[in-house]
Amino acid sequence: MKDRISIPSAPLQAIKRLNQCGFEAYVVGGCVRDALLGKTPYDWDICTNALPRETIACFADFHTVPTGEEHGTVTVIIDQTPMEVTTYRIDGAYTDGRHPDDVAFTRSLQEDLARRDFTVNAMAFHPQKGLVDLYGGQADLSAQVLRCVGEPAVRFAEDALRILRGFRFASQLGFALERETEKSALALLPTLERVAIERIYQELSKLICGTHAHRVLEQYPQVAEAVFPFAEKVSSNTLQALGRLPACQALRFGMIYRDNPKALEGLYALRAPKALAEQASFLAKNGSHLLPDTCGELQKQIYWFGKTAIEQMLIYQTALQILPQNTPVCWDVIQQQGLCCSLKDLAVSGRDLMQIGFPADHTLGEALERLLFSVMEGTIPNQKEALLAYAATIKN
Ligand code: ATP
Ligand code: MG
Repeated sequence: MKDRISIPSAPLQAIKRLNQCGFEAYVVGGCVRDALLGKTPYDWDICTNALPRETIACFADFHTVPTGEEHGTVTVIIDQTPMEVTTYRIDGAYTDGRHPDDVAFTRSLQEDLARRDFTVNAMAFHPQKGLVDLYGGQADLSAQVLRCVGEPAVRFAEDALRILRGFRFASQLGFALERETEKSALALLPTLERVAIERIYQELSKLICGTHAHRVLEQYPQVAEAVFPFAEKVSSNTLQALGRLPACQALRFGMIYRDNPKALEGLYALRAPKALAEQASFLAKNGSHLLPDTCGELQKQIYWFGKTAIEQMLIYQTALQILPQNTPVCWDVIQQQGLCCSLKDLAVSGRDLMQIGFPADHTLGEALERLLFSVMEGTIPNQKEALLAYAATIKN
């Protein structure tokens, strides 16, 4: 296992600057974990013994935002890259299982690392001093194990969200929960109820989009039961399909709630964004109804439900391995040839029909829809003259 990582220019500059101002600074947490695994970190978090005010002063010539000053976090922007610089801290007790009652700053890196959730997340790295690994994080990375820093039962009691984070990292990394960590996580699963739903949702959406989500949920069905509102047992077949889906929240939530009549309610209870909740519940409800395998019928589905919904159904049914063989062919033909799927694709408009004597009322819309269906069924070409000639025959 590597013990060196290469830090990109922006966080490197931030560390250098803090050091020049006389402070300690390290990259820490998820970015160290991912870099050691050879993955590209999404963002680089920095920890320091500088207090937020001191950090801001140290970066006086850069743009800084006091993002969460009371929690010690200042966002520093270098070369258009925003980075969170957080003062070493010790979290107080979480008496409500939601927020630490108080946050105390400390000048000790060791204490900051001790408050972190898992050993693999509790490492810091400095370009000259190298890796600071006080809890065996590197060994656990090699062994692909998620182990709490300290006593699992205590750490989960302090903040129950860590339980879900454990399963989230298992899903993303394919790691196993160490025995004691697993035992406490499962025993304390019901305490997740006390955690703010917004925090649950954040972790849950990462969990279900993980590469190993299907394996985690297969191994721990009680997790899905505990965290998905109105959960029903997810069948093994559905979980296999979940694993074949791309990492897209709408598709994956749609699979978890497959055929569950409470899908929309469940997603709203999770405070999922409206558009996502609607897409996912559409898939949960309709995704298993086979798509047609002729162009005309598929065009009608696109007309009714919209292009995005049908495109997602195609992916959903591919994952379920129920997609009719000809459907993707028809889909390609429709896209490539720009076949008619909506009234605006039609070669005539309401105005054209009014010019040949249609009244400006609901009959106009009905006539346009009839023309559209005839075009989709292939009985009339999508050409103005042919359409107007046909329209004349249905005018009463
Ligand atoms: P990701 O790559 O998904 O952002 P991450 O490990 O960076 O993963 P974050 O939620 O961004 O996860 O948290 C950053 C770091 O803060 C973690 O690596 C961990 O050290 C610490 N941390 C976050 N949440 C908690 C928590 N609830 N309890 C203890 N430590 C936490
Ligand atoms: Mg992070």
